[in-house]
Amino acid sequence: MTGATKPLNPRGTKYERVDFPVFEFPVVGKARYNYTTGEALGRFLAGLKEGRILGTYCNKCGRVFVPPRMYCSYCFREVDGWVEAKDEGVVVTAVMSYISATRARLEKPVAVGVIKLDIPGRQFDDHFFPGIMHYICGATEEDVKSMRIFGAKVKAKWKPYEQRTGSITDIECFELVRP
Ligand SMILES: [Zn+2]
Repeated sequence: MTGATKPLNPRGTKYERVDFPVFEFPVVGKARYNYTTGEALGRFLAGLKEGRILGTYCNKCGRVFVPPRMYCSYCFREVDGWVEAKDEGVVVTAVMSYISATRARLEKPVAVGVIKLDIPGRQFDDHFFPGIMHYICGATEEDVKSMRIFGAKVKAKWKPYEQRTGSITDIECFELVRP
């Protein structure tokens, strides 16, 4: 990987409390719709149902995409193939959030973070890595405040097979692996 511009502080900034308004929407009824996933996302979601995290790779720049893409948007070319990520990795950044995925205010905060996934046989620097955002369970507010969560090992906690639907929520969260 050459020519990459690294962020000055790839580990993020110190945790601080920020108050900001939460927009709550009135209930406007249910909208039902279908969405075509396409080949890459379709295989990714089908993989989750089987307990596998799939990605694609570009040989030119070395990037691995999770969730997968069919084209490398850095090299403007088709990707070269598929890889399977391990269902474990390290936390790159995390926050404690008082807002749910549906924007409701939560009584108890949840830890949400970006997880750099391990790909067997490949190494990635701190900036260009295959990673996904997910809930981190087992993390305390103190883990986040003290920033000791950065770099912590996590492993996917999968739903039981019969409850999986081919969704990112087939992984309930990434659990902290305490040493
Ligand atoms: Zn590329």
